Amino acid sequence: MKCCKRKYIVTLLSFLTLFVFTGCGKGVVKSSETTTGMGTVVQKTVYVNEEQTGKDIFSEIDTYMEKYENELLSWRVSDSEISKINATAGSGSGYQVQSSELWENLQTIWKVSERSQGALDITVGMVTRAWNIDAWATGDNNGFPIPDKEILDELLQNVGYQNVRLEEGLIYLPAQMSLDLGAVGKGIVCDKIGEYLKTLDEMTGAVITIGGSVVTYGEKPDGGTWNIAIVHPRKEGSYLGTVSVRGEHYIATSGDYERYVERDGIRYHHIINPDTGYPAESGVCSVTIVSDSGLLSDALSTACFVLGVQDGLKLVEEFGAEALFVTAEMEIVMTPGMERMFVSQ
Ligand code: ADP
Ligand code: MG
Repeated sequence: MKCCKRKYIVTLLSFLTLFVFTGCGKGVVKSSETTTGMGTVVQKTVYVNEEQTGKDIFSEIDTYMEKYENELLSWRVSDSEISKINATAGSGSGYQVQSSELWENLQTIWKVSERSQGALDITVGMVTRAWNIDAWATGDNNGFPIPDKEILDELLQNVGYQNVRLEEGLIYLPAQMSLDLGAVGKGIVCDKIGEYLKTLDEMTGAVITIGGSVVTYGEKPDGGTWNIAIVHPRKEGSYLGTVSVRGEHYIATSGDYERYVERDGIRYHHIINPDTGYPAESGVCSVTIVSDSGLLSDALSTACFVLGVQDGLKLVEEFGAEALFVTAEMEIVMTPGMERMFVSQ
């Protein structure tokens, strides 16, 4: 059995914090740090005025990541908002969502679910748990039991965004349903980080990467672009090119190389087709989205991965986002707006 190597990098980095501090002239210095957070690698680079080091900004970003995971987004933390929602499944009385931000996020998520015909469906919680996707990231693949089809079929009966009622701040989950915000959580946190970066006078530019979700902000001192690598999905360490942008953007990638386990020549990855309960097979290996919202980019990258090129392109057009698909044949398909941002390797 072969497992995704990325998790070893995560494990290694949890013991190692890299902090780099470089002068850039014009009174601006570059600070970089690589750590872990939200179960993945976090890379932060900021350009700040000379008397700053970026360290305070980094620790504030770490605090946001922890706070959002623990207080709002993680179904594993028993008193997070999502866990409280999940605990009321089937109660009939619904759950009053405490965070207005989470409430707004849920509206956006449901909009993407509706327009993607359920390709994005955060009610897949029971199914993602049956696959034990979380364990793949921690390296705990012992045995990796592939769930029985009968079990998946049974669990699928408790999946369906259309069976959830969202009304006046209340969310009503049917019995046995469970939400999993894994597809959108990093994007939600990127939005928060983007908001925070805007409040900092001492900072001129930043690029923050949480796994496959990136926020870029401001400018580089030399006027250059922020270059986000498009990973070659089948050649570790290789890139197909970069998405090169200036200013504030939210870039998310969903790929079948991010978290997977190989068994008998079959790649089981972490993006589930909510119709079948199995890893999506839509002829794409990765999808990258650029938009003006972290949540939207993250939601659309997962939805487009499940939909594949044709339906995915229609979906992103509806949301005014840009997309880049890498197909199973390693072909690149892009929206016209993405073509203007993509620089081939
Ligand atoms: P990553 O977490 O690597 O950034 P994605 O944003 O595509 O990748 O999210 C994948 C995660 O979302 C999975 O680990 C799982 O928790 C959850 N998930 C998988 N398939 C779906 C789906 N079709 N709709 C909603 N959530 C999903
Ligand atoms: Mg996503």
